[in-house]
Amino acid sequence: MRHWILALGVLAAATAIAARAQSPAPATPERLVADAKRAAGLDHPGTFLRICVAPDNLNAAPRPAPAPAGPRTVPDRATWYAAPYKVFDDLYFVGTRIHSAWALTTPDGIVVIDTLFDYAIEPEIVNGLEKLGLDPRNIKYVLISHAHGDHDQGAALLQSRYGAKVVMGAADWEATLQRPATAAGGVPKRDIAVGPEGTKITLGGTTIDVIATPGHTRGTISYLFPVHDRGRTLTVAYAGGTAFNFPREAANFVIYRDSQKKMGEAARAAGGTVLMTNHTEFDRAYDRARLAQLPRAAGEKHPYETDQATVLRYFEMGGLCAEAQRLSMESAN
Ligand SMILES: [Zn+2]
Repeated sequence: MRHWILALGVLAAATAIAARAQSPAPATPERLVADAKRAAGLDHPGTFLRICVAPDNLNAAPRPAPAPAGPRTVPDRATWYAAPYKVFDDLYFVGTRIHSAWALTTPDGIVVIDTLFDYAIEPEIVNGLEKLGLDPRNIKYVLISHAHGDHDQGAALLQSRYGAKVVMGAADWEATLQRPATAAGGVPKRDIAVGPEGTKITLGGTTIDVIATPGHTRGTISYLFPVHDRGRTLTVAYAGGTAFNFPREAANFVIYRDSQKKMGEAARAAGGTVLMTNHTEFDRAYDRARLAQLPRAAGEKHPYETDQATVLRYFEMGGLCAEAQRLSMESAN
């Protein structure tokens, strides 16, 4: 009898230890931020700082409304102008020091990814393509990751001048079409609206997988597409919206968090090893575009090429930062 009691006691203790091991300590905002820092590692510090250390909407102040139409001020060109660069065999940087714009070339024409503020469209994209020996009249598609002025003000010009088709998330088209005709850069006409199911854009044998990733805006879209580095095919995972400058509501952080998970899974399935975003502070595009001009030692990787784990850690970090904010709102209530 005593043996049985002893055995039961040991069993109960073992079960309790196992149960403790199986249920980790409850998540706290601090723990999630620490996990996000680990996920960011040395690869994604800019995004970690922006959305985990000091999120833009921390004091419940949403993004200020765009300034009313009027005489626009163009910042000093010395603060933003960047020369254009060929970065991959078929991908060219035509952005500023601050914002990215890319030209993906195919045998049947060019896809422009993001279009900068209106003051930058002529010097960076139109003249930039010409300097690189590309003809802007061959632009067939313009992909807008989300409808904020720093990425979409060039869309109307590329559409009206070259007949390019503008691709945008459906919700961001709604916001864009409400702008007055006098808005900086003008208002593009509705072309291709991407719903929650996403879409594929194919040109000259190159397919861009367009994935709906609402969060930064309701219509934010992200991409997976192939590029070539000296003939080798690499897959780019392009994150279309980053900062937390949406209204500080729990539901918005849930939407953002779930989109990071979705994009991470899509990048995993596609084998993405190049992570790109549309602000140079997040992926060091301006530096990497210039590093790509340097000679490389035998076997040395392209400055944009990482590995799949590094790409996946980017989206893991984004999800953790969003969840940390959601949880901190919960514990503040
Ligand atoms: Zn934005």
